Amino acid sequence: MNSVKLFSPATVANLSCGFDVLGCCLDNVGDEMIISLVAEKGVRITKIDGADLPMETHKNVAGVAVEALLDQLGDETTGVEVEIYKKIKAGSGIGSSAASSAGAVWGVNHLLGYPFSNKQLVAFAMEGEKLASGNAHADNVAPALLGGFTLVRSYTPLDILKLHTPDDLMMTVIHPQIEVKTSDSRSVIKPNITLKKAIHQWGNLGGFISGLYTEDYDLIGRSLEDVIVEPLRSILIPEFQRVKNAALAHGALGCGISGSGPSIFTLSKGEATARNVADAIREVYQTTGLDFDIHISKINSEGVRIIRS
Ligand code: ADP
Repeated sequence: MNSVKLFSPATVANLSCGFDVLGCCLDNVGDEMIISLVAEKGVRITKIDGADLPMETHKNVAGVAVEALLDQLGDETTGVEVEIYKKIKAGSGIGSSAASSAGAVWGVNHLLGYPFSNKQLVAFAMEGEKLASGNAHADNVAPALLGGFTLVRSYTPLDILKLHTPDDLMMTVIHPQIEVKTSDSRSVIKPNITLKKAIHQWGNLGGFISGLYTEDYDLIGRSLEDVIVEPLRSILIPEFQRVKNAALAHGALGCGISGSGPSIFTLSKGEATARNVADAIREVYQTTGLDFDIHISKINSEGVRIIRS
């Protein structure tokens, strides 16, 4: 057992009411990776297919994340080779960098006989996120590693919870193929918020989590509201409000910015509604002349999975 081929899923972070703490894992959108243990020590990225990304270990999130894992083990002899088959475009807002970091550490942990739990792997994968965005956030890598919906209850110390996933929840995501610079999407956010807005937002976060556990889809929908970041960031995404209006008019429970954008997510109850929502938002985007992808996915309760051992 010295090589494994993996599916490493895309993820949607923030989910309107949980900026930097909530995330969820998609089922049929993601990268593939082959992770191998080899005789020559050190970590190497040997192939990247489908994207123009750095091959140097210390510039690629997968390399940095695996090095963090080996450092923690005090392992200076293991050799690791990583092949990345990118299907998620970098900068899409559906966790492209997280898929590489999470898949790489999951694969190495598997090949080494599971010295770490999946929750422990989150900290190593976060080192990759730090490289990608300057900020070691866990709201994409946690759902990629644990599956389902996850909550970062605390960053210091790191405390990650896996939440319940109602069976009928479906995600529809539109990815407009425009570049929103991470620096721009960060610069529009204000460092302070009013108490009034904080109260509004933590009410929604509590409501959303309660809705997941009680499988109360109306409550989930009512809670998918963002009074803090969306009003500022949505101006960077063409036709955001029209997409949101169309999604809600066609039965979506809620709609918001996926991660730092430009992707927009919607949650629906049932596949038929998720497909109607996809048709409605496609119609909106076809008027823009922009290229875009639409994904319809179940929630993946497993996270990274093996395609071939
Ligand atoms: P996303 O939100 O889709 O993950 P980010 O902006 O967070 O996009 O991450 C993309 C950044 O990370 C890009 O600057 C990219 O060059 C860098 N990066 C380094 N290695 C990888 C990798 N293996 N996969 C994706 N992005 C990577």
